[in-house]
Amino acid sequence: MGDPMACRILLLLLATWLAVLSACDTVPYTERKQVIVIPQNQERAMGARAAREILRTVRLADDPKLVAAVSRVGRRIAAASDAPDMDWEFHVIDDDRVANAFCLPGGKIFVYSGILRVARDEDELAAVMAHEVAHALARHGAERATLELGAQLGGALVALALGDEDPRLAEIASRIWGYGTNLGLVLPYGRKQEYEADAIGLRLMDKAGCDMEGAARFWENMRRADAPKPLSAFLSTHPTDEKRLERIRRDIREIRATRQKAREAAPLRP
Ligand SMILES: [Zn+2]
Repeated sequence: MGDPMACRILLLLLATWLAVLSACDTVPYTERKQVIVIPQNQERAMGARAAREILRTVRLADDPKLVAAVSRVGRRIAAASDAPDMDWEFHVIDDDRVANAFCLPGGKIFVYSGILRVARDEDELAAVMAHEVAHALARHGAERATLELGAQLGGALVALALGDEDPRLAEIASRIWGYGTNLGLVLPYGRKQEYEADAIGLRLMDKAGCDMEGAARFWENMRRADAPKPLSAFLSTHPTDEKRLERIRRDIREIRATRQKAREAAPLRP
């Protein structure tokens, strides 16, 4: 019965629909629903591969104080994220002219030494690390790759495109995470993902016992007219504006209010 071609297309659509349904995830802390068709182990493998590629091509900072600070603050935030299956790594790329940071899937975080000209104390540095850890937790890279896949292939083909050997996936991954030859290829996240990483990052800072005001100070430093030149790199992937700062300040107030309420509701200790 029926046209076998139409039948095949129908089956394909059904398979895709099932794949999309089963891939519906919830972002930790914000509870936003997201669709990711890239399995977590594959996402991690791509992140690890990209990290190796980057480590092969960049010069790492050798200032032990700087490296220790980034690693210490990064681990503190990562511990608060309570994601034991993540394989966190924190690297400092030696380039004072670049004030930027980025995160590869699975928790490989890279910070350029130039960021320390903007993040001037440990709470401000914690804001950067928490923002990047949040991108990994919320699987923003894989979410973006899913969108790209969808856009490129059309819904019905997404499910078929996930073979390990698929060159299109590798191509998309290399564009998104920039592990080709040019590090500048790391694409900016969408504004929604940026705001979400800010919001999750603040909660991680609070859980880790950092001063959340560090985030507001960091973004103010970024905006300051007399800020050093290398800022442009971070700004190109992390747009900052009054709205972003407003949201950060509002989130800080909300997190504090929630904490205060929980404290009041808890029975007094004898
Ligand atoms: Zn970001």
